[in-house]
Amino acid sequence: MEFISIKQAMEKGTGQVNVRGWCYRVRNSNKMAFIVLRDSTDIIQCVVEKSKLSEDIWNQALKATMECSLEITGEIKKDERAPTGFEISVSSLKIIGESDVFPITKDQSPEFLLDKRHLWLRSRKMTAILKVRSSVFQAIRKFFNDKGFYEEHSPMFSPTSCEGGSTLFEVKYFDDIMYLTQSWQLYAEAMISALEKIYTISPCFRAEKSKTSRHLSEFWMAETEIAWYKLDDILKNAEDLVAFIVKYVVEHNEEELKFLGQDIEKLKKIKTPFPRITYTKALEILKKDGLKVEWGKDLRTIEEDAIAKHYDKPLIITNYPKKIMAFYKLKDPKNPETALCFDMLAPEGYGEIIGGSERDTDIGEMKKALIAQGEKPEKYEWYFDTRRYGSVPHSGYGLGVERVIAWLCKSDNIKDTIPFPRTMLRMTP
Ligand code: ATP
Ligand code: MG
Repeated sequence: MEFISIKQAMEKGTGQVNVRGWCYRVRNSNKMAFIVLRDSTDIIQCVVEKSKLSEDIWNQALKATMECSLEITGEIKKDERAPTGFEISVSSLKIIGESDVFPITKDQSPEFLLDKRHLWLRSRKMTAILKVRSSVFQAIRKFFNDKGFYEEHSPMFSPTSCEGGSTLFEVKYFDDIMYLTQSWQLYAEAMISALEKIYTISPCFRAEKSKTSRHLSEFWMAETEIAWYKLDDILKNAEDLVAFIVKYVVEHNEEELKFLGQDIEKLKKIKTPFPRITYTKALEILKKDGLKVEWGKDLRTIEEDAIAKHYDKPLIITNYPKKIMAFYKLKDPKNPETALCFDMLAPEGYGEIIGGSERDTDIGEMKKALIAQGEKPEKYEWYFDTRRYGSVPHSGYGLGVERVIAWLCKSDNIKDTIPFPRTMLRMTP
């Protein structure tokens, strides 16, 4: 017997089909049973009529409970009243795996759904988000592969910090202590002297102690590092990537986006160039909005949201104060209090989706910055070698994959954008 997906069955539209999946909903009377079958592609109503079937098959149908798995054979036909416009009149049915009383019913709290995440993944909402997630990964790979980039990887165990010590996870490593990686970047900077244009998509670990709706302690970052690139070149690459991801998801996930309540026409308008302002200009705009930020302070979530509200495309903010930036961000020679760096903010209050910069090539400057941040420059000697032997100007950035998914899927919490989220308070399942 050859099985087809529910989607393929609906495309076929008439005749006999064999489908299999899970029981999404079931309702019985003493003459009829209505089983809504779910597979990874869609749902379909299946009608079982006692008078038309053997006792054996009818008894199987009576055993069907929510989320049991089953195989069904029957005639498919159009039916406007059915939930997805088609119905299968069942001629044979077999329960493959029975289901205990399914613990998830309507209107349960977000925390309960997170406790039952391994089961809640089957919901149509999570299924839709996970399909978008898969497309976002595909889009990132396609974008870089089509431009001739090499995909490379850095170790997850790191002897040093990249983004500052406060969010490091320590791990016992034989008789030593190592850290889980916060970013591939320092290793990427060594790899570009061999490969010039590289990217990665990798888990990153940050001990985020704040309970925000935008931070995970384990998240995926798409990073690129490119030899010879200056700030302007990397900004162009970053906005092209984001526009490409949006276009790819619109092309591949229209159904899912609609299901999630996303306005597709709005996404279609996300085209380059994106607006660009400096940090200093951002402070002026915020001041007019009644939000006063002292020059030199990083933008907090509320300020990022307030500024992003002025734009309907992702916004690029450049030239943050040098002293609050990571040690590797290059000073702007024209404006030495600031760095040649940028953040990209998603529209509609989904926060920072990219952070990037041109990289410093001056070992002395970097040592000073590391000391100011309480780090030991000796630990970075191998990294400084990248500047000692044929250093070149170079730039890169990191894109928070879950932040992009949250924006595209209109998820108000980043935890919904990854199958099994990890935060300070969420370690299971
Ligand atoms: P934030 O200020 O939001 O904490 P960041 O400045 O620490 O971000 P970067 O070090 O620039 O972030 O990392 C690059 C990108 O990775 C960010 O723009 C963001 O999209 C994403 N990102 C950073 N931290 C997290 C996190 N804890 N969970 C999910 N995504 C994150
Ligand atoms: Mg952070």
